[in-house]
Amino acid sequence: MILRNTIAGQLVVLLLIYGRHTLLSSAKTVTSEQMSLALPEPRAYLPDAQNLDFVYHDHEELTRFLRATSARYPNLTALYSIGKSIQGRDLWVMVVSSSPYEHMVGKPDVKYVGNIHGNEPVGREMLLHLIQYFVSSYNTDQYVKWLLDNTRIHILPTMNPDGYAVSKEGTCDGGQGRYNARGFDLNRNFPDYFKQNNKRGQPETDAVKDWISKIQFVLSGSLHGGALVASYPYDNTPNSRLLKGICRSSALCAMFQTYSAAPSLTPDDDVFKHLSLVYARNHAKMSRGVACKSATPAFENGITNGAAWYPLTGGMQDFNYVWYGCMEITLEISCCKFPPAYELKKYWEDNQLSLIKFLAEAHRGVQGFVFDPAGMPIERASIKIKGRDVGFQTTKYGEFWRILLPGYYKAEVFAEGYAPREVEFVIVEQHPTLLNVTLQASKYNVGSARKPKKERKQRHLLHDELQTPNE
Ligand SMILES: [Zn+2]
Repeated sequence: MILRNTIAGQLVVLLLIYGRHTLLSSAKTVTSEQMSLALPEPRAYLPDAQNLDFVYHDHEELTRFLRATSARYPNLTALYSIGKSIQGRDLWVMVVSSSPYEHMVGKPDVKYVGNIHGNEPVGREMLLHLIQYFVSSYNTDQYVKWLLDNTRIHILPTMNPDGYAVSKEGTCDGGQGRYNARGFDLNRNFPDYFKQNNKRGQPETDAVKDWISKIQFVLSGSLHGGALVASYPYDNTPNSRLLKGICRSSALCAMFQTYSAAPSLTPDDDVFKHLSLVYARNHAKMSRGVACKSATPAFENGITNGAAWYPLTGGMQDFNYVWYGCMEITLEISCCKFPPAYELKKYWEDNQLSLIKFLAEAHRGVQGFVFDPAGMPIERASIKIKGRDVGFQTTKYGEFWRILLPGYYKAEVFAEGYAPREVEFVIVEQHPTLLNVTLQASKYNVGSARKPKKERKQRHLLHDELQTPNE
Protein backbone atom coordinates (compact mmCIF):
# COMPACT_ATOMS: atom_id res chain seq x y z
CA MET A 1 0.00 0.00 0.00
CA ILE A 2 2.45 2.59 1.15
CA LEU A 3 5.50 0.45 1.43
CA ARG A 4 7.93 1.71 -1.14
CA ASN A 5 9.49 -1.09 -3.05
CA THR A 6 12.68 0.34 -4.44
CA ILE A 7 15.94 -1.45 -5.02
CA ALA A 8 17.66 1.04 -2.72
CA GLY A 9 15.05 0.35 -0.08
CA GLN A 10 15.55 -3.38 -0.39
CA LEU A 11 19.29 -2.94 -0.05
CA VAL A 12 18.83 -0.92 3.10
CA VAL A 13 16.50 -3.59 4.45
CA LEU A 14 18.94 -6.36 3.62
CA LEU A 15 21.82 -4.45 5.18
CA LEU A 16 19.76 -3.86 8.28
CA ILE A 17 18.81 -7.50 8.57
CA TYR A 18 22.28 -8.72 7.74
CA GLY A 19 23.92 -6.20 10.04
CA ARG A 20 21.66 -7.12 12.92
CA HIS A 21 22.15 -10.81 12.35
CA THR A 22 25.92 -10.49 12.18
CA LEU A 23 25.90 -8.52 15.39
CA LEU A 24 23.82 -11.11 17.16
CA SER A 25 25.69 -14.07 15.78
CA SER A 26 28.99 -12.65 16.91
CA ALA A 27 27.71 -11.73 20.36
CA LYS A 28 28.38 -14.23 23.11
CA THR A 29 24.81 -15.10 23.75
CA VAL A 30 23.23 -17.82 25.81
CA THR A 31 21.62 -20.80 24.12
CA SER A 32 18.38 -18.91 23.72
CA GLU A 33 20.18 -16.41 21.47
CA GLN A 34 18.69 -13.77 23.67
CA MET A 35 19.55 -10.09 23.77
CA SER A 36 18.00 -7.13 25.42
CA LEU A 37 16.91 -3.77 24.12
CA ALA A 38 16.79 -1.02 26.69
CA LEU A 39 13.78 1.29 26.78
CA PRO A 40 13.77 4.80 28.21
CA GLU A 41 11.80 5.54 31.32
CA PRO A 42 8.33 6.97 30.64
CA ARG A 43 8.00 10.62 31.49
CA ALA A 44 4.98 12.57 32.57
CA TYR A 45 3.03 13.68 29.55
CA LEU A 46 2.77 17.30 28.58
CA PRO A 47 -0.48 19.19 28.08
CA ASP A 48 -2.02 19.15 24.64
CA ALA A 49 -0.74 21.79 22.24
CA GLN A 50 -4.41 22.62 21.56
CA ASN A 51 -4.02 23.29 17.88
CA LEU A 52 -7.14 21.22 17.23
CA ASP A 53 -10.50 22.45 18.48
CA PHE A 54 -12.53 20.37 20.90
CA VAL A 55 -15.50 20.06 18.58
CA TYR A 56 -16.83 17.20 16.45
CA HIS A 57 -15.35 17.20 12.96
CA ASP A 58 -17.49 16.05 10.05
CA HIS A 59 -15.94 13.97 7.27
CA GLU A 60 -14.80 16.96 5.23
CA GLU A 61 -13.24 18.64 8.27
CA LEU A 62 -11.63 15.38 9.34
CA THR A 63 -10.19 14.93 5.85
CA ARG A 64 -8.89 18.51 5.82
CA PHE A 65 -7.25 18.08 9.21
CA LEU A 66 -5.51 14.85 8.18
CA ARG A 67 -4.34 16.31 4.85
CA ALA A 68 -3.07 19.50 6.50
CA THR A 69 -1.25 17.53 9.20
CA SER A 70 0.43 15.22 6.71
CA ALA A 71 1.51 18.26 4.67
CA ARG A 72 2.83 20.04 7.74
CA TYR A 73 4.64 17.01 9.22
CA PRO A 74 5.87 15.02 6.20
CA ASN A 75 8.64 13.38 8.22
CA LEU A 76 6.31 12.12 10.92
CA THR A 77 3.06 11.28 9.12
CA ALA A 78 1.71 9.55 6.04
CA LEU A 79 -1.94 9.52 5.02
CA TYR A 80 -3.51 6.66 3.13
CA SER A 81 -6.99 5.31 2.52
CA ILE A 82 -7.82 1.63 2.99
CA GLY A 83 -11.01 1.90 0.94
CA LYS A 84 -14.33 3.68 0.86
CA SER A 85 -17.57 3.44 2.79
CA ILE A 86 -20.79 2.56 0.96
CA GLN A 87 -21.49 6.24 0.41
CA GLY A 88 -18.00 6.83 -0.95
CA ARG A 89 -16.25 8.35 2.05
CA ASP A 90 -12.57 7.47 2.36
CA LEU A 91 -11.50 5.29 5.27
CA TRP A 92 -8.44 7.36 6.12
CA VAL A 93 -5.50 5.98 8.02
CA MET A 94 -2.81 8.26 9.35
CA VAL A 95 0.55 6.70 10.11
CA VAL A 96 2.46 8.50 12.81
CA SER A 97 6.08 7.45 13.14
CA SER A 98 9.58 8.71 12.51
CA SER A 99 9.45 6.33 9.53
CA PRO A 100 5.95 6.98 8.20
CA TYR A 101 6.48 5.57 4.70
CA GLU A 102 8.61 2.54 5.44
CA HIS A 103 8.14 -0.35 7.79
CA MET A 104 11.05 -0.23 10.24
CA VAL A 105 12.58 -3.68 10.19
CA GLY A 106 12.48 -5.18 13.66
CA LYS A 107 10.03 -2.58 14.99
CA PRO A 108 6.32 -3.21 15.50
CA ASP A 109 3.30 -1.78 13.70
CA VAL A 110 0.30 -1.00 15.92
CA LYS A 111 -3.13 0.51 15.28
CA TYR A 112 -6.16 2.26 16.66
CA VAL A 113 -9.62 2.04 15.09
CA GLY A 114 -12.30 4.57 16.01
CA ASN A 115 -15.99 5.02 15.34
CA ILE A 116 -16.80 1.48 14.10
CA HIS A 117 -20.19 2.36 15.53
CA GLY A 118 -21.06 5.64 13.82
CA ASN A 119 -22.93 7.07 16.81
CA GLU A 120 -19.96 6.54 19.17
CA PRO A 121 -17.66 9.35 17.99
CA VAL A 122 -15.68 10.27 21.11
CA GLY A 123 -12.94 7.85 20.02
CA ARG A 124 -12.89 9.43 16.57
CA GLU A 125 -12.13 12.83 18.09
CA MET A 126 -9.67 11.36 20.62
CA LEU A 127 -7.69 9.83 17.76
CA LEU A 128 -7.49 13.18 15.95
CA HIS A 129 -6.17 14.73 19.15
CA LEU A 130 -3.74 11.86 19.58
CA ILE A 131 -2.36 12.50 16.07
CA GLN A 132 -2.08 16.20 16.88
CA TYR A 133 -0.37 15.46 20.19
CA PHE A 134 2.16 13.09 18.66
CA VAL A 135 3.27 15.43 15.90
CA SER A 136 3.39 18.52 18.09
CA SER A 137 5.29 16.94 20.99
CA TYR A 138 7.79 14.74 19.12
CA ASN A 139 10.58 17.23 19.70
CA THR A 140 9.71 18.08 23.28
CA ASP A 141 8.51 14.83 24.87
CA GLN A 142 11.20 12.14 25.07
CA TYR A 143 8.67 9.41 25.63
CA VAL A 144 6.69 10.33 22.51
CA LYS A 145 9.91 10.60 20.56
CA TRP A 146 11.01 7.15 21.70
CA LEU A 147 7.57 5.72 20.86
CA LEU A 148 7.50 7.21 17.35
CA ASP A 149 11.14 6.29 16.72
CA ASN A 150 10.42 2.66 17.56
CA THR A 151 6.84 2.08 16.48
CA ARG A 152 4.67 2.69 13.41
CA ILE A 153 1.30 3.81 14.66
CA HIS A 154 -1.60 3.49 12.21
CA ILE A 155 -4.70 5.44 13.16
CA LEU A 156 -8.10 4.93 11.49
CA PRO A 157 -10.21 7.63 13.18
CA THR A 158 -13.46 6.50 11.60
CA MET A 159 -14.35 3.07 10.28
CA ASN A 160 -17.99 4.06 9.83
CA PRO A 161 -18.17 7.60 8.42
CA ASP A 162 -21.62 7.02 6.90
CA GLY A 163 -23.07 6.06 10.29
CA TYR A 164 -21.48 9.11 11.84
CA ALA A 165 -23.09 11.35 9.21
CA VAL A 166 -26.60 10.42 10.45
CA SER A 167 -25.79 10.44 14.17
CA LYS A 168 -26.92 13.19 16.51
CA GLU A 169 -24.77 15.02 19.04
CA GLY A 170 -26.19 14.74 22.55
CA THR A 171 -27.75 11.30 21.94
CA CYS A 172 -26.46 9.06 24.71
CA ASP A 173 -28.31 5.85 23.84
CA GLY A 174 -30.05 4.27 20.90
CA GLY A 175 -29.00 2.91 17.54
CA GLN A 176 -29.33 5.72 15.02
CA GLY A 177 -26.02 5.95 13.19
CA ARG A 178 -24.62 2.82 14.83
CA TYR A 179 -24.82 0.85 11.59
CA ASN A 180 -23.30 1.41 8.16
CA ALA A 181 -25.42 2.83 5.31
CA ARG A 182 -26.86 -0.63 4.58
CA GLY A 183 -27.88 -1.19 8.18
CA PHE A 184 -25.10 -3.60 9.14
CA ASP A 185 -23.39 -3.54 12.52
CA LEU A 186 -19.72 -3.56 11.50
CA ASN A 187 -18.67 -5.05 14.83
CA ARG A 188 -20.81 -8.12 14.03
CA ASN A 189 -19.52 -8.41 10.47
CA PHE A 190 -16.19 -10.27 10.83
CA PRO A 191 -15.57 -14.00 10.46
CA ASP A 192 -16.06 -15.70 13.81
CA TYR A 193 -14.04 -18.45 15.41
CA PHE A 194 -16.88 -19.97 17.41
CA LYS A 195 -19.79 -19.69 15.05
CA GLN A 196 -20.47 -19.36 11.32
CA ASN A 197 -21.16 -15.69 10.64
CA ASN A 198 -23.60 -15.50 7.75
CA LYS A 199 -23.80 -11.70 7.63
CA ARG A 200 -22.88 -10.34 4.22
CA GLY A 201 -19.41 -8.76 4.28
CA GLN A 202 -19.57 -4.97 4.09
CA PRO A 203 -17.09 -2.72 2.23
CA GLU A 204 -15.90 -1.14 5.47
CA THR A 205 -15.25 -4.56 7.06
CA ASP A 206 -13.63 -5.90 3.89
CA ALA A 207 -11.30 -2.88 3.80
CA VAL A 208 -10.22 -3.51 7.39
CA LYS A 209 -9.76 -7.25 6.77
CA ASP A 210 -7.57 -6.47 3.77
CA TRP A 211 -5.59 -3.93 5.79
CA ILE A 212 -4.95 -6.38 8.63
CA SER A 213 -3.86 -9.06 6.17
CA LYS A 214 -1.20 -6.77 4.65
CA ILE A 215 0.39 -5.32 7.77
CA GLN A 216 1.32 -7.48 10.73
CA PHE A 217 -0.13 -5.47 13.58
CA VAL A 218 1.12 -6.47 17.01
CA LEU A 219 -1.30 -4.49 19.14
CA SER A 220 -4.60 -2.71 18.53
CA GLY A 221 -7.37 -0.81 20.27
CA SER A 222 -10.91 -0.30 19.00
CA LEU A 223 -12.66 2.74 20.49
CA HIS A 224 -16.34 2.71 21.44
CA GLY A 225 -18.80 4.59 23.64
CA GLY A 226 -21.75 3.71 25.86
CA ALA A 227 -19.74 2.31 28.79
CA LEU A 228 -16.48 2.87 30.62
CA VAL A 229 -14.43 -0.31 30.44
CA ALA A 230 -11.58 -2.05 28.64
CA SER A 231 -12.96 -5.31 27.26
CA TYR A 232 -10.81 -8.16 25.96
CA PRO A 233 -11.29 -11.35 23.90
CA TYR A 234 -13.05 -13.52 23.47
CA ASP A 235 -16.24 -11.63 22.73
CA ASN A 236 -17.85 -14.87 21.64
CA THR A 237 -18.19 -18.16 23.41
CA PRO A 238 -18.86 -21.74 22.36
CA ASN A 239 -22.24 -21.40 24.10
CA SER A 240 -23.50 -18.31 22.27
CA ARG A 241 -26.00 -20.32 20.23
CA LEU A 242 -27.49 -21.73 23.38
CA LEU A 243 -27.69 -18.27 24.84
CA LYS A 244 -29.45 -16.97 21.76
CA GLY A 245 -32.06 -19.72 22.05
CA ILE A 246 -32.83 -18.67 25.59
CA CYS A 247 -32.89 -14.96 24.83
CA ARG A 248 -36.37 -14.41 23.45
CA SER A 249 -37.02 -11.02 24.96
CA SER A 250 -34.45 -8.34 25.59
CA ALA A 251 -35.39 -8.09 29.29
CA LEU A 252 -34.91 -11.81 29.81
CA CYS A 253 -31.74 -11.65 27.78
CA ALA A 254 -30.34 -8.87 29.93
CA MET A 255 -31.18 -10.81 33.06
CA PHE A 256 -29.60 -13.96 31.69
CA GLN A 257 -26.48 -12.07 30.70
CA THR A 258 -26.19 -10.36 34.06
CA TYR A 259 -26.40 -13.58 36.04
CA SER A 260 -25.16 -16.29 33.72
CA ALA A 261 -22.67 -14.96 31.17
CA ALA A 262 -19.47 -16.93 31.66
CA PRO A 263 -16.05 -15.63 30.67
CA SER A 264 -14.65 -16.94 27.40
CA LEU A 265 -10.91 -16.82 27.93
CA THR A 266 -8.06 -16.96 25.43
CA PRO A 267 -4.76 -18.77 26.03
CA ASP A 268 -3.28 -15.25 26.34
CA ASP A 269 -5.67 -14.22 29.10
CA ASP A 270 -2.88 -12.94 31.35
CA VAL A 271 -1.63 -10.67 28.56
CA PHE A 272 -5.10 -9.41 27.63
CA LYS A 273 -5.90 -8.63 31.26
CA HIS A 274 -2.62 -6.78 31.58
CA LEU A 275 -3.19 -4.74 28.40
CA SER A 276 -6.69 -3.83 29.56
CA LEU A 277 -5.34 -2.80 32.97
CA VAL A 278 -2.69 -0.61 31.36
CA TYR A 279 -5.46 1.32 29.65
CA ALA A 280 -7.78 1.41 32.66
CA ARG A 281 -5.12 2.40 35.20
CA ASN A 282 -3.70 5.22 33.08
CA HIS A 283 -7.21 6.55 32.50
CA ALA A 284 -8.47 9.23 34.87
CA LYS A 285 -11.29 7.08 36.23
CA MET A 286 -11.84 3.83 34.31
CA SER A 287 -10.05 1.60 36.84
CA ARG A 288 -12.38 2.75 39.62
CA GLY A 289 -15.00 0.56 37.96
CA VAL A 290 -17.87 2.96 38.47
CA ALA A 291 -21.10 1.96 36.74
CA CYS A 292 -22.37 4.38 34.09
CA LYS A 293 -25.96 3.95 35.28
CA SER A 294 -27.49 2.09 38.15
CA ALA A 295 -28.82 -0.56 35.75
CA THR A 296 -25.46 -1.28 34.11
CA PRO A 297 -22.69 -3.38 35.61
CA ALA A 298 -19.72 -1.94 37.48
CA PHE A 299 -16.54 -3.52 36.17
CA GLU A 300 -13.91 -4.55 38.68
CA ASN A 301 -10.76 -2.50 37.96
CA GLY A 302 -12.48 -1.17 34.85
CA ILE A 303 -11.85 -4.28 32.75
CA THR A 304 -13.93 -7.24 31.59
CA ASN A 305 -13.78 -10.27 29.41
CA GLY A 306 -16.01 -9.53 26.39
CA ALA A 307 -18.19 -12.64 26.62
CA ALA A 308 -18.58 -12.26 30.38
CA TRP A 309 -20.14 -8.86 29.71
CA TYR A 310 -22.25 -10.07 26.79
CA PRO A 311 -21.32 -12.53 24.04
CA LEU A 312 -21.42 -11.43 20.43
CA THR A 313 -20.67 -13.03 17.07
CA GLY A 314 -18.57 -11.41 14.33
CA GLY A 315 -16.67 -8.93 16.50
CA MET A 316 -13.46 -7.30 15.32
CA GLN A 317 -11.24 -8.06 18.33
CA ASP A 318 -11.71 -11.83 18.20
CA PHE A 319 -10.93 -11.72 14.46
CA ASN A 320 -7.70 -9.77 15.00
CA TYR A 321 -6.50 -12.21 17.61
CA VAL A 322 -7.59 -15.54 16.15
CA TRP A 323 -6.72 -14.87 12.51
CA TYR A 324 -3.61 -12.70 12.86
CA GLY A 325 -2.39 -13.01 16.44
CA CYS A 326 -2.91 -9.24 16.87
CA MET A 327 -3.76 -8.35 20.45
CA GLU A 328 -6.80 -6.10 20.07
CA ILE A 329 -8.97 -4.90 22.91
CA THR A 330 -12.17 -2.85 22.92
CA LEU A 331 -12.06 0.47 24.71
CA GLU A 332 -15.39 1.87 25.87
CA ILE A 333 -14.46 5.42 26.77
CA SER A 334 -17.71 7.35 27.34
CA CYS A 335 -20.90 6.48 29.21
CA CYS A 336 -22.80 8.68 26.77
CA LYS A 337 -22.36 7.47 23.20
CA PHE A 338 -22.43 10.94 21.61
CA PRO A 339 -21.88 13.50 24.40
CA PRO A 340 -22.02 17.25 23.74
CA ALA A 341 -18.86 18.72 22.23
CA TYR A 342 -18.06 20.83 25.28
CA GLU A 343 -17.21 17.59 27.13
CA LEU A 344 -14.57 16.51 24.59
CA LYS A 345 -11.72 18.33 26.32
CA LYS A 346 -12.44 16.41 29.51
CA TYR A 347 -12.50 13.12 27.60
CA TRP A 348 -9.13 13.96 26.08
CA GLU A 349 -7.65 14.71 29.51
CA ASP A 350 -9.06 11.42 30.80
CA ASN A 351 -7.74 9.31 27.90
CA GLN A 352 -4.54 10.94 26.70
CA LEU A 353 -2.10 9.03 28.89
CA SER A 354 -3.94 5.72 28.38
CA LEU A 355 -3.88 6.08 24.61
CA ILE A 356 -0.11 6.64 24.63
CA LYS A 357 0.90 4.09 27.27
CA PHE A 358 -1.23 1.34 25.74
CA LEU A 359 0.66 1.53 22.43
CA ALA A 360 4.02 1.25 24.19
CA GLU A 361 2.95 -2.25 25.33
CA ALA A 362 3.88 -3.47 21.83
CA HIS A 363 7.45 -3.35 23.17
CA ARG A 364 6.79 -5.85 25.94
CA GLY A 365 7.61 -9.52 25.50
CA VAL A 366 9.67 -11.22 22.83
CA GLN A 367 10.69 -10.06 19.38
CA GLY A 368 13.18 -11.24 16.83
CA PHE A 369 13.90 -12.84 13.50
CA VAL A 370 13.88 -16.30 12.00
CA PHE A 371 16.81 -16.92 9.63
CA ASP A 372 17.98 -19.69 7.36
CA PRO A 373 21.56 -21.01 7.70
CA ALA A 374 22.78 -18.37 5.21
CA GLY A 375 21.40 -15.60 7.42
CA MET A 376 18.50 -14.80 5.11
CA PRO A 377 15.10 -14.15 6.68
CA ILE A 378 12.48 -16.90 6.53
CA GLU A 379 9.03 -15.56 5.71
CA ARG A 380 5.92 -17.21 7.12
CA ALA A 381 7.78 -19.29 9.66
CA SER A 382 5.21 -20.34 12.27
CA ILE A 383 5.89 -19.67 15.91
CA LYS A 384 3.92 -20.92 18.83
CA ILE A 385 4.54 -20.19 22.48
CA LYS A 386 4.09 -23.46 24.33
CA GLY A 387 0.87 -23.53 26.28
CA ARG A 388 -0.66 -20.79 24.10
CA ASP A 389 -2.48 -22.31 21.21
CA VAL A 390 -2.52 -19.30 18.95
CA GLY A 391 0.18 -19.48 16.31
CA PHE A 392 1.69 -16.50 14.57
CA GLN A 393 3.96 -16.06 11.58
CA THR A 394 7.03 -14.14 10.57
CA THR A 395 6.85 -11.22 8.14
CA LYS A 396 8.67 -11.12 4.83
CA TYR A 397 11.70 -9.82 6.73
CA GLY A 398 11.55 -12.84 9.04
CA GLU A 399 10.39 -10.71 11.98
CA PHE A 400 8.04 -11.68 14.77
CA TRP A 401 6.71 -10.15 17.98
CA ARG A 402 4.77 -11.58 20.89
CA ILE A 403 3.57 -9.61 23.88
CA LEU A 404 4.26 -11.69 27.01
CA LEU A 405 4.50 -11.02 30.73
CA PRO A 406 7.68 -11.81 32.71
CA GLY A 407 8.43 -15.52 32.98
CA TYR A 408 10.08 -18.54 31.35
CA TYR A 409 8.77 -19.58 27.96
CA LYS A 410 9.39 -22.10 25.24
CA ALA A 411 8.75 -21.26 21.59
CA GLU A 412 8.21 -23.82 18.85
CA VAL A 413 9.42 -22.58 15.48
CA PHE A 414 8.45 -24.30 12.22
CA ALA A 415 8.90 -23.47 8.56
CA GLU A 416 8.28 -25.56 5.49
CA GLY A 417 11.51 -27.22 4.40
CA TYR A 418 13.30 -26.66 7.71
CA ALA A 419 13.83 -28.73 10.80
CA PRO A 420 11.61 -27.44 13.61
CA ARG A 421 13.21 -25.98 16.70
CA GLU A 422 12.27 -25.39 20.28
CA VAL A 423 13.84 -22.34 21.91
CA GLU A 424 13.67 -21.35 25.55
CA PHE A 425 13.75 -17.75 26.62
CA VAL A 426 13.10 -15.47 29.55
CA ILE A 427 10.95 -12.36 29.64
CA VAL A 428 11.80 -9.66 32.16
CA GLU A 429 9.78 -6.62 33.12
CA GLN A 430 12.28 -3.94 32.15
CA HIS A 431 12.80 -4.53 28.43
CA PRO A 432 11.79 -6.81 25.58
CA THR A 433 13.73 -9.99 24.89
CA LEU A 434 15.35 -10.20 21.49
CA LEU A 435 15.34 -13.74 20.19
CA ASN A 436 16.84 -14.75 16.87
CA VAL A 437 16.30 -18.26 15.64
CA THR A 438 18.23 -19.95 12.85
CA LEU A 439 16.52 -22.93 11.30
CA GLN A 440 18.50 -25.66 9.55
CA ALA A 441 17.19 -27.16 6.33
CA SER A 442 15.30 -30.36 6.94
CA LYS A 443 17.43 -33.36 5.91
CA TYR A 444 14.65 -34.39 3.53
CA ASN A 445 14.63 -30.98 1.91
CA VAL A 446 18.27 -29.98 1.50
CA GLY A 447 18.63 -27.97 -1.68
CA SER A 448 14.95 -27.17 -1.95
CA ALA A 449 14.41 -25.37 1.32
CA ARG A 450 13.35 -22.08 -0.17
CA LYS A 451 9.96 -22.82 -1.63
CA PRO A 452 7.90 -20.28 -3.58
CA LYS A 453 5.77 -17.98 -1.49
CA LYS A 454 2.18 -18.90 -0.87
CA GLU A 455 -0.67 -16.51 -0.36
CA ARG A 456 -1.61 -16.02 3.27
CA LYS A 457 -4.44 -18.39 3.89
CA GLN A 458 -7.66 -16.77 4.97
CA ARG A 459 -8.19 -18.98 7.94
CA HIS A 460 -7.62 -18.63 11.59
CA LEU A 461 -4.35 -19.57 13.21
CA LEU A 462 -5.80 -20.90 16.41
CA HIS A 463 -5.42 -24.65 16.81
CA ASP A 464 -4.06 -24.94 13.28
CA GLU A 465 -1.95 -27.96 12.75
CA LEU A 466 1.48 -26.51 12.23
CA GLN A 467 3.30 -28.27 9.44
CA THR A 468 6.10 -30.35 10.89
CA PRO A 469 8.61 -32.05 8.59
CA ASN A 470 8.72 -35.82 9.04
CA GLU A 471 11.69 -36.23 11.28
ZN1 LIG B 1 -19.77 0.37 20.10
